[in-house]
Amino acid sequence: MNNAHYLARSLHAVWHPCTQMKTHEWLPLKPIASAQGVWLYDFEGKRYLDAISSWWVNLFGHGNARINAALKDQLDRLEHVILAGFTHEPAIELAEKLSALTNNKLGHCFFASDGSSAVEIALKMSVHFWRNSGKPGKNKIVCLEGSYHGETAGALSISDLGLYKDAYTALLRETVTVPSPDARGARAGESAAQCAERAAAALENWLAQHAGETAALIVEPLVQCATGMAMYDPLYLRRAREICSRHGVHLIADEIAVGFGRTGTMLACEQAGITPDFLCLSKGITGGYLPLSVVLTRDEVYAAFYDDEIARGFLHSHSYTGNALACRAALASLAIFAEDDVIANNREKSRQITRLATPLAEDDRISNFRNRGMIWAFDVQTSDVHFAGKVFATGLEHGVLLRPIGNTVYFMPPYVISLDEAAFLVEQTSAVLNQVLRESA
Ligand SMILES: *Cc1c(COP(=O)(O)O)cnc(C)c1O
Repeated sequence: MNNAHYLARSLHAVWHPCTQMKTHEWLPLKPIASAQGVWLYDFEGKRYLDAISSWWVNLFGHGNARINAALKDQLDRLEHVILAGFTHEPAIELAEKLSALTNNKLGHCFFASDGSSAVEIALKMSVHFWRNSGKPGKNKIVCLEGSYHGETAGALSISDLGLYKDAYTALLRETVTVPSPDARGARAGESAAQCAERAAAALENWLAQHAGETAALIVEPLVQCATGMAMYDPLYLRRAREICSRHGVHLIADEIAVGFGRTGTMLACEQAGITPDFLCLSKGITGGYLPLSVVLTRDEVYAAFYDDEIARGFLHSHSYTGNALACRAALASLAIFAEDDVIANNREKSRQITRLATPLAEDDRISNFRNRGMIWAFDVQTSDVHFAGKVFATGLEHGVLLRPIGNTVYFMPPYVISLDEAAFLVEQTSAVLNQVLRESA
């Protein structure tokens, strides 16, 4: 079978995500036959470097031998069992290991299936906590400008992305948005830290007046990914933690994209030395193999639900909650972090890849070249509204999978990318930009 065979069938039967299907009249849809390491292979043997880790989920490459082996072993023991009234070893072990990542400050682990449902859980737990604590009026959620927390109704309510939201406002709750600490918003002469401080002052102003009706602030620590890799100073997180504590408002850290080493530390919050009240994890948690998410929280929150009265409990559920295969993939992924000293090795790799990307950083057509951990991003000056789609299509011709967000091009590769592969990625990205900008000039 060749690409064309699958292409026609997929366009007929599959309604693809995040896509106006009509754009496939000109945008390529790539059937993928297999994948190994950072490479995706189509049915004609052409390969593409997965520079976005298949939507930010893959950490240790496709077809990872160690994760494969763990899953094969798990498959012969237990594939899945209901997690209400039952338990199993991978769920227990994973909950313990994830809690340990927070120095056991967040000792209670609630499983779900994808990032959006983790966010829904954090919102419901926070609001329910205040209700159980005799403060049902504390039910508003504050989010940052440019925030993205998923696309189910609750999560979409606290996402500030017009295009993904406008059609559904009738389904959504009104939310409060406070200024983002995005360092690109720094005024002339202002440092990233001063910019973060200014955003923190706006949060302080809001909560000084509205803490009584506010349940929680939700943030994506260090990098607001979906808005276009907006990076900010850790100072904001320290200030937000302190402000929320002082005003009796929960801090929810959505580390669905930035967790598991993506920003250079296992958890992004570590770089600010803070612990949130709720921590949402997903995406990289299984190394990119299976859907799984989790919300971790404190003893105090757990205790507010622990009661003889059933209605005071947290009755939320998902059918595949704590799926044994997914938990086992997550354990295999955590084992790789330990065995390969991944965080320390990534620190050097990140520096080397930044050095390789110097030609992009110095390109006149590019601004705000930025890096944190294993994320690189830059903004391209262009008025072409089809820029992102053209870079995607041209990228495939050059053997790289790039998926710009507006005019922001970014790399978020699997951690196993070699320096040769990174050099190839940088070279091809330059070539893609030359071609796209020449054609749209
Ligand atoms: C992807 C993402 C989500 C939603 O996760 P899904 O698994 O796509 O539902 C939520 N928050 C952040 C920060 C994300 O990047």
